[in-house]
Amino acid sequence: MSNLETIDVKTLPWLDAPRQRLRTALQRDRLPAALLIQIDPGLGGELLARWCAAALFCTATAAGEPCGRCIDCRRVASGEQPDLLLLAPLEESKEIKIDQVREAARELALTSHSGRRKVVIISPAEKLNRNAANALLKTLEEPAGAATLMLVTGEASRLPQTVQSRCMRVPCAPPATATLVGWLAARGGAAADWAAALALHDGRPLAVLGTDPVALAGLQRDTHRVLDQALQGALDPVETAEAWARDEPALRVAAIGAWLRERIDEWANGRRKLDGRALLESEESLRELRGWLDSPINKALALERLLWRLGTIVPRASTPNRHRG
Ligand SMILES: [Zn+2]
Repeated sequence: MSNLETIDVKTLPWLDAPRQRLRTALQRDRLPAALLIQIDPGLGGELLARWCAAALFCTATAAGEPCGRCIDCRRVASGEQPDLLLLAPLEESKEIKIDQVREAARELALTSHSGRRKVVIISPAEKLNRNAANALLKTLEEPAGAATLMLVTGEASRLPQTVQSRCMRVPCAPPATATLVGWLAARGGAAADWAAALALHDGRPLAVLGTDPVALAGLQRDTHRVLDQALQGALDPVETAEAWARDEPALRVAAIGAWLRERIDEWANGRRKLDGRALLESEESLRELRGWLDSPINKALALERLLWRLGTIVPRASTPNRHRG
């Protein structure tokens, strides 16, 4: 988060529309007690929630706009505002658990430090496990005093309908890739490199900040070159898989994904004769492999299987028949 603290939400043009909507609600003192900010990860959803929290705490606010300079604004930005609770998966866990929600509910029941209100930001909210979501529902049904809850999620459908229906939806449309690349390039660096970096990070600009776009573009080029060789049967899947499993496997898998999407486009548009079934099977293998990246599974073996499969997307007659020795 430290990286994000330095980003001014006003510099993210794709958040202008939802921010305007929140500002209008704040100006009219009509902000609902619970918001569901729907936004893909890495686009600054939590920054938008914090901006809204700052607007609620700021003592120098004008027209629903936090000043960004007062002690309250600065505390919100650094996460040190005592009336602001941030719920996220704890480090050792991938979920937001019931104890965290219960603790937040207990906090909400106490008098606020500022004498104004309390704000809870839950991000990413789809990480609430079932019990935690049920506990949250209780808080939503019986809101305690002056409290605002903000749920930030790219997967609202994974939240119980009962939770969704008690929140005002704030949808944030995903911006065009060109907008994101332009935003990154405006901070320095070549647009082409940022485009590659973005492709390797699921189109999440804030995840890409602080990375080396030149190195990422190089990794993508290298991966694609090797995969092109695979189509000509000029690849040793075992050796390649072992090398990639040691060298940034997650980024390699992302680069394979971008390459495979291009092949599927070529095939779908009739620009290249490829085996549709093998393409879909490769896509399936890739999806599986993505799900395994965080697990202790043997990544080299999984990558090897995927590479073998990718080697079959060119119709067989033109592929030399290679088998493991
Ligand atoms: Zn302020």
